[in-house]
Amino acid sequence: MARDLGTKYTCFKCGTKFYDLKKPAPTCPKCGTDQREAPVPKVVTARQARAAAAAREESEVAAEEEELEAEEEDEDEAEEEPTT
Ligand SMILES: [Zn+2]
Repeated sequence: MARDLGTKYTCFKCGTKFYDLKKPAPTCPKCGTDQREAPVPKVVTARQARAAAAAREESEVAAEEEELEAEEEDEDEAEEEPTT
């Protein structure tokens, strides 16, 4: 599942393509460069920023829904346990 790999990066230093695996620091597996230190090649337009923010919100909502489903499953299991 591509979603579980996190964000795709292309190392700005050595060009290696990799996923950050949802780690807090997206570092290149080949040269260890932190991609947050990458020089910004071009200014992000307001429209692009808004689209990115919307995509981020969508993924957060999806994660919350998954958590809720897991909780419901736990409750079902508890109810099925024999009380005798
Ligand atoms: Zn690299």
